[in-house]
This record gives sequence, C-alpha cells and structure tokens, in this order.
Amino acid sequence: MDFEKVGQELHQFAAGLYPICRSITGDGIRESLARIKSLIPLQIFEVPTGTQVFDWTVPKEWNIRDAYIADGAGKRVVDFRQSNLHVLNYSIPVHETMPLRKLKPHLFTLPAHPDWIPYRTSYFKEEWGFCLSHNQMLAMTDCDYEVCIESSLEDGRLSYGECFLPGSSEQEVLISSHVCHPSLANDNLSGVTVAAFLAKLLSGRNLQYSYRFLFIPGTIGAITWLARNRKSVGRIRHGLVLTCVGDAGGFHYKKSRQGDTEIDRAAAHVLHHSDESWEVLEFSPYGYDERQYCSPGFNLAVGCLMRSVWGTFAQYHTSADNLDFIRPLSLAKSLRVCADIVNVLENNYRYRNELPYCEPQLGRRGLYQSTGGQAGGEDIMARLWVLNLSDGKHSLLDIAERSGISFSILSEAAEILSDKGLLSKVSEDERIGTTGVIARDECNLRRS
Ligand SMILES: [Zn+2]
Repeated sequence: MDFEKVGQELHQFAAGLYPICRSITGDGIRESLARIKSLIPLQIFEVPTGTQVFDWTVPKEWNIRDAYIADGAGKRVVDFRQSNLHVLNYSIPVHETMPLRKLKPHLFTLPAHPDWIPYRTSYFKEEWGFCLSHNQMLAMTDCDYEVCIESSLEDGRLSYGECFLPGSSEQEVLISSHVCHPSLANDNLSGVTVAAFLAKLLSGRNLQYSYRFLFIPGTIGAITWLARNRKSVGRIRHGLVLTCVGDAGGFHYKKSRQGDTEIDRAAAHVLHHSDESWEVLEFSPYGYDERQYCSPGFNLAVGCLMRSVWGTFAQYHTSADNLDFIRPLSLAKSLRVCADIVNVLENNYRYRNELPYCEPQLGRRGLYQSTGGQAGGEDIMARLWVLNLSDGKHSLLDIAERSGISFSILSEAAEILSDKGLLSKVSEDERIGTTGVIARDECNLRRS
C-alpha cells in the first residue's frame, strides 16, 4: 500500500464530508450518504418517525437552514455559517430578542479551551442552544441580542446506508460506523472514511464471507438497524465498529462482550505485528455502537477499533477535532490494519498434514535450507509450525498465536506446503458454515 497516496485520498474524502451539518436524522446525513454512494454501492433506507425500535422510538426529523446571535447593530456575533457546531444539535426553532442574562442558560462554552467550540446535542429533550468559544462569550456585553435558529423538527425519516458485498458464504462480517456527527473529523469522519475505503478495497474481490457495511446514526441508528434485521443477525460471524481512526495516537482495540472471539484474536494479532503502538481493552458497556451489537440479547462478536479513545483526547467533541487533527498517514495505516484483519478472517483455514508420521523431508522438495547446521529462518520455522500443528483442529490463527509468527507468513507457508501436496485444507463449509443459517438465527433469538 502506498500510504502517502492512499492517505491523501482518504483525507480528501473526509474533507468533502467535513462541512456538512449532520445529525441523527435530516438532510445532512442524506447528503453524506450520497457522497459515500459515489464511492461504493450503497442502499439507503428511510425509517419513519415514530417507528418503535425495541425500547426506543425513531425521533422527529431535524433540519436547519441558519442560526445566529446578533448584537444591537445586527452584527452576527455567533454564526452557524462559520461553524455548524455553533448550534446545539437538534435545537428547536427560536426567534427572539433577549438580554444576555436570559440567553446565558442556552450558551455552552469550554473555559479550559477558550478558543474551541464544544459539540453538544439535545436529541431527546426539546431544547434550543448555542455552542461558542469561551472567548466569544466573554466578548458579549449586557445588551439585547437577537437570537435566531431557523430549524425544523417534524415527522420525517431516519436515514442510514448499507453496502453489502456478497461472498461465497452467507455468513457475514459487519463493519459499522456512525455518520451523525457534524463538523468533527476524528469522531467520526475518520471511521466513515476508512470503512468506505475498506468496502471499496474489498468490492470485486473473491470473498469467503459476505460483508455488510453500515453507515448509521449513532445509538438510535444501530438500535433501528438491529430491530429491523433481528431475524438475520445470526449470520453475523464477526464485526467491527470503526471510530476515531485518524488521529496520530496508537491503536486501541476494544474486545467484544464475549472477549475471546475470532475477531478479538484477529485484531490483537494484527496489531501485535503492526509497527505502531497498540493496546487491547476489555469490553465495557459504554462507548460506541458495540454497546448495541453486544447487548445481551444479541451478544454479537463485534469489537471496536480506535486510535485515541473517545473522551481521552482534549479535542474530543470540540471544534479542534478538525481536518488538521486527522492525518493522511494515520488514516491509511488504519485502513491497512482493517484490511489485515479481514485477511486473517478470510484465510483462517485449518489444514491436515498429509504426512503426519515424523517430519516430511523438506530439503528434497526445496523447502529447507540446503546447508545443514544453521538455524532455520522465519520462512522455514513457519513451514515447521504449520506442518506440526495442522491436525485439522488448529487454525492458522491458532498457529500464529502459538508460534509468534505473523499470520501472513504462516498463510504463505501453508500455501506452499499445499502446493507440494503436504497439506490439505479442511472444507470451507466446516470452517465458515454455509448451511443451517436460518436454524441458527432462530436458535440465537430464542436464547436472547
Ligand atoms: Zn461522538
């Protein structure tokens, strides 16, 4: 992968999405989905306001045209046209003149970072407000201000997008990213961008699993999707939530609720062999949409890949989470990590050693160093490990974990040994499972 070139491409895509005022519903998310659709095949779904989704209800649709606070001379001292973060997301309309004293309870600032605008929302309580830099607020005087929010909150629809890439199996890998934040780059245009480019990378390839990419509003979107797809979620074998993957920090992988699934192990393995710092975090019921996928009724094998963890970086949910905060190289390397994880899932075969009684004579087959007496290099060690553990039970990932050798080197070794007739692959049906999908779904649901 040409990290520089790919990184620029990813960054440019995120930059195109950046100015759009998104929310959990409305035209901003529709415009964002249309942009994603220009890159990958995307089916867009619209769910009406009032639809019951488990314990939640699809909210009214929110749209905004303009918003400002103007002083006595009509000069805009806070202007939505300068930054869409200036409006409390989901603000109801207002047009009044009021003194600063009355306005203040509706103003949100960050005194610790007096130049930054905070990002605040009020999805489930009808409220209006403005977010502004602390310095902007300090500059306001005790005169009357014209306050205007030209928004609408009406019955409408919640929109989300799905990109489905069919593989030879009906069993699925789910990649989910939230697409509801306005001008915020790391959280989560980085996740949206890396997911979209991963879909682009995989489309047209011969895939074992089917891949389903979701571009959905956070929380209510994931809940809506799960409610509408309850009958088929049993097909999801592995999943990843992608968020905050564009900053300069090292990687964090948050395990699924189950904690020891193939995706958990594949992600940890890939990070272990990457050239960046990384940490694996235990599951907790807070964070992003893994909260919904890993709720006890579903308990799906879905982890969350991040660089810096939400809430731990100062720029989180502020105007400083901008296009300078995400870096082309970080985006490209995150895409690479995702592609490597997919590579593990796709190729995590089990093999049988066809000559299991003592070691086969590798030298005779050109698979061993010709001069005796020297220690085996990694290629040779990989062949020996694969031969030794290929008893039909150990997968390549098992062998990778036990040997400390990277999956990609072991996978290559297995291919060479198979070509020489020393290994045979355990059938795909046995590995991925292509039958009995419906029965398993029902079984999962009954358990939930
Ligand atoms: Zn967020």
